[in-house]
Amino acid sequence: MRMVEHDLRRRGIHDARVLAAMQTVPRHRFVPAELADEAYADSPLPIGEGQTISQPYIVALMTEALALEPETAVLEIGTGSGYQTAILAEVGARVWTIERSTSLAQRAKSLFEELGYDRIEAHVGDGTLGLPDWAPFDRILATGSLPEVPAGLLSQLKPGGIFIGPVGSRFGQRLVRIEYHPQRTTRDDLGSCRFVPLIGVDGWNPSDGA
Ligand code: SAM
Repeated sequence: MRMVEHDLRRRGIHDARVLAAMQTVPRHRFVPAELADEAYADSPLPIGEGQTISQPYIVALMTEALALEPETAVLEIGTGSGYQTAILAEVGARVWTIERSTSLAQRAKSLFEELGYDRIEAHVGDGTLGLPDWAPFDRILATGSLPEVPAGLLSQLKPGGIFIGPVGSRFGQRLVRIEYHPQRTTRDDLGSCRFVPLIGVDGWNPSDGA
């Protein structure tokens, strides 16, 4: 597939399980029907409600950076279309995903059922607060931007757990990787990016424009 060879492997995505998942998950099912022809292009696409499905390269980059093993427990914040969620499940993770928009969450949930992703738990709510009742997680992935990484989210990671997400201003962010240990955390910069905001108590204010 051109997307995998040209847009992922040639740009440095090497994890065979991530590449296989990107090859397998039918991205065209996660975009509006009228955009199905563009589903494998090297760009984000609108999915309704003013939201987007992320660019395939970013999905692959974040998935690779999570260093998933089979059965790794992952919390994804911002289900959106459900595509990133399906990629995580395809790689073998157990996924809890949370979405603020009820309509997007319902659409994604139906698609997970239709496509047989029966190990995904989809929730509706403010993911900037995490999912304390289901914590701790091995990994937390934010698929929308945050002004800073909420301490309350990090505390829902197991010791040695990893957070990945875009952190910065509303108009541009750095993709950060944080390894969480109760006494100290390490923080790495994975490059620049631009995501829609996570609106919530520990995210952006709705009046900032959502
Ligand atoms: N991962 C998605 C995909 O593969 O389609 C793309 C996610 S989109 C870039 C960001 C999503 O975060 C949007 O669907 C938006 O509604 C959602 N969102 C915004 N604020 C949120 C919050 N506080 N909690 C959960 N989801 C939120």
